[in-house]
Amino acid sequence: MVSTSKAYNSFEVTQIQFDRIADILNLDAATRDLLRVPMREYHFSIPVHMDDGRVNVFRGFRIQHNDARGPCKGGIRFHPQETVDTVRALAMLMTWKCAVVDIPLGGSKGGVICDPHNLSAREQELICRGWVRQVARNVGPTIDVPAPDVMTTPQHMLWMLDEWEAIHGEKGPGFITGKPVGSGGSLGRTEATGFGLIFTLREALRELGVKVSDTLASVQGFGNVAQYAVRLYRQLGGTVIGVSSWDQVDKVSYFFRKLDGVDPDTLLKITDRFGGIDKDKARGEGYEVLPGDAWIEQEVDVLVPAALENQINGDTVPRIHQRVKVLAEGANGPTTPDADTVLRDRGMFVIPDFLGNAGGVTCSYFEQVQSNTNYYWDKDEVLGKLDLKMTSAFLAVSELARREKLFMRDAAYVIAVSRVAKACKDRGWV
Ligand code: GLU
Repeated sequence: MVSTSKAYNSFEVTQIQFDRIADILNLDAATRDLLRVPMREYHFSIPVHMDDGRVNVFRGFRIQHNDARGPCKGGIRFHPQETVDTVRALAMLMTWKCAVVDIPLGGSKGGVICDPHNLSAREQELICRGWVRQVARNVGPTIDVPAPDVMTTPQHMLWMLDEWEAIHGEKGPGFITGKPVGSGGSLGRTEATGFGLIFTLREALRELGVKVSDTLASVQGFGNVAQYAVRLYRQLGGTVIGVSSWDQVDKVSYFFRKLDGVDPDTLLKITDRFGGIDKDKARGEGYEVLPGDAWIEQEVDVLVPAALENQINGDTVPRIHQRVKVLAEGANGPTTPDADTVLRDRGMFVIPDFLGNAGGVTCSYFEQVQSNTNYYWDKDEVLGKLDLKMTSAFLAVSELARREKLFMRDAAYVIAVSRVAKACKDRGWV
């Protein structure tokens, strides 16, 4: 029975997923105790002198879930609905993400409750600098390395780096990733998450014996991940029949559909920097403008949620069309456990979030290596290494899934959690 209208707490969702795997792996009580909650949390206030003379106090977080495999790694989100539990959940997912692609990093996440849509560049800069001032001694190239996430940009990262370097009195470009190219950023970082997702989708379709050029996809979102995913999937011959995006004026999302295939270049010209598509201009370009949740019920082969968490849940999962074969999760935590049960029973091929969207952090790792050695690679080298890493991680997961008859999400978790549990044990922590 599918439960409906449940309020989902992302942290509980990730804990439920972890408990399932802890049972499969028969983990001891101490390891469970250690891994089901973050190791360290920083909660703080950031006072900002606003342009109109008032002082606004913003709430910020940095949550370090586990660093047994290396320095913590994870993005910083700016979002008006940010909660501590969302950040906790995402920090935990980062630990599994770095482990499943086998990069030597732990997991963390940060956030500030704010809406950059309503903040000037100066106010955003002060939030970035204020965030770093609060945790400057608890983050750094060998401790915890932030990066962009929802509504944060390379410019934000550079302000944060500048503040960190000012406080420490030294250059430290390896402190943060997702920096602008030319200021310590890596070529390919912008494309990395979307491209990485499509590298894994390409392998999934190959395994299912389906040609990419015979497939249709429907995408939720048109931010950084979706934009590059759509681009590469099209280059491989696939057709995206629609993307959804948030409308800042109407405060709802819309699904922009074009059955013979959306053109990302046209859409980009009418998209703001947060991924919001202008609906009137889209109509002028021949797009149907449908309610935002229509992305999930399209008659396609591939669904790509690349927006926010908890989008595929008990309420929405029955609306997925029978034709859908692959769910390629670009967002973090887009599927709730009750919806997962339905997908599992249906035999859906799921590319789970922390595997599918690991291209971003994998390229961040490459950026860190380049920054720490102060030697930068060309784009083909970055994207070639990314393809190799994503493809081998995917193959390891799908091989385990086949061999042990596991759901893909469970197989990815089994690999990730066992690597982290082993690192904790090897260090003598548990
Ligand atoms: N924010 C991205 C993620 O959730 C990238 C994190 C990183 O590069 O550290 O994977």
